[in-house]
Amino acid sequence: MPAAAPLRVLGVASEMFPLLKTGGLADVVGALPAALARCGVELHTLLPGHPAVLAALTGPQVVAQWPDWFGGPARLLAARHGDTPLLVLDAPHLHARHGNPYLDATGRDWPDNPVRYAALALAAAQLSWGEVPAFVPDLVHAHDWQAALVPAYQHYLGAGRRRLPSVLTIHNLAFQGHFEAETWPHLRLPDIAFAIEGLEYHGGIGFLKAGLQFADAITTVSPTYAREILTPAGGMGLDAMLRWRAAAVSGIVNGLDTTAWSPADDPHLAQRYDAHTLPRREANRRAVEQAFGLPPDDSLLLCMVSRLTAQKGIDLVAAALDGIVAAGARLVVLGTGDAAIEAALRAAAARHPTRVALRIGYDEGLSHLLHGGADAILVPSRFEPCGLTQLSGLRYGCVPVVSRVGGLADTVIDANHAALAAGVATGIVFDELSPQGVLQAVQRCLDLHADAPRWRALQLAGLRSEVGWRASAAEYAALYRRLVAAPPPHASGSPLP
Ligand code: ADP
Repeated sequence: MPAAAPLRVLGVASEMFPLLKTGGLADVVGALPAALARCGVELHTLLPGHPAVLAALTGPQVVAQWPDWFGGPARLLAARHGDTPLLVLDAPHLHARHGNPYLDATGRDWPDNPVRYAALALAAAQLSWGEVPAFVPDLVHAHDWQAALVPAYQHYLGAGRRRLPSVLTIHNLAFQGHFEAETWPHLRLPDIAFAIEGLEYHGGIGFLKAGLQFADAITTVSPTYAREILTPAGGMGLDAMLRWRAAAVSGIVNGLDTTAWSPADDPHLAQRYDAHTLPRREANRRAVEQAFGLPPDDSLLLCMVSRLTAQKGIDLVAAALDGIVAAGARLVVLGTGDAAIEAALRAAAARHPTRVALRIGYDEGLSHLLHGGADAILVPSRFEPCGLTQLSGLRYGCVPVVSRVGGLADTVIDANHAALAAGVATGIVFDELSPQGVLQAVQRCLDLHADAPRWRALQLAGLRSEVGWRASAAEYAALYRRLVAAPPPHASGSPLP
């Protein structure tokens, strides 16, 4: 029997590992093409032409040109990075900027961000209409607010054109793409769209809100977060909209790139290891201590690799640190973010120079070494759509200690009595989001660590857990196929009741 033709999907995103990354979005967008290829889906991802993206392309071909694309000339390139097919919007007036894609050198949002990402979305809509013969997709999958206008352009400018099903994935509802109404004339949308059943949001423009309105399916990155965002507590002001679309909302948990994250052949480790050679982690622990200027010691070594923000609960850890040290644990932190949180961690490190150490910055290699050498990874997030570091922790025998929210709750099995007895516990999951709650979780971690056979069982259960993309890629592929076979009757743009 001949193999079924692959489904052709257009991905749309603002960042993609390893070309350009500010967070977990890039990891997911980077991992999906290979994972979906194994499910018979050919995923071509459209990215903005940042210098780092353009520099990484092989074989770029110009497949479309627009003399005036939101204020300047633009070309659409088809290219590859390794085996990954890409489409790149090369619009130098919008994207020829080095460094963080969203922020200028002073750390402020680029003032033309709405125009920059509207330009990306309209290019995607053109592809969805089949107007670029080089790639004619069957479905479009947009990621986060930066791509969320794709379904809105499909809706408002799609009359008489082919209508492709759309999926919008929310990687973090905290980032919604709100802009002042004065941007409106630059978005190339009809005035009728500046309305509550369109892009208008609290007097301004809501990119994510518009996408939620018109996408055929809305996914987020874990089943628990999919439920949380339907509530006032988790909905960040969009819960009523999300409840209205509840039938279209689902959660598909993120996977980890298990090729990049593999302790058996990780070039960043001082000593590689697998489930049979866990004691080799010792050399990595020594390398971590050395890298952070801590004296060698066998007491519990906790690590965090994170944006240093209130979302991630780092302020709770800073407040609990004296207690954590008094209880006998140590902590090393790699991250950047909020100045006040950095300062609190720095002060704690100054108080406990042999027990707490901090590295401000982004360092992929050091992050891997921490996973390979620390005993446990602390992820006390206030909310967490999925989270990736608990997954990499599981894969490296670095036991996750996590709050019971979002994807953390879906991916770590708490070491309660029954789970320990059944040998399925993989970490510590705690409920109380407070310094006291963090301290109690660390105390549980210390107690388990002191019981060597139990600790080893926790590590091994983590190493055995399925953290790759196989199951989740199959769920995305099934969703795509359902939408392509039968585009939802709701279709884009039913008016709000
Ligand atoms: P978020 O996307 O909310 O920041 P995730 O846990 O989903 O959080 O993804 C964060 C990703 O970025 C992970 O791959 C993590 O290892 C990585 N990361 C975060 N901070 C750093 C850092 N300072 N250095 C290296 N990697 C980091």
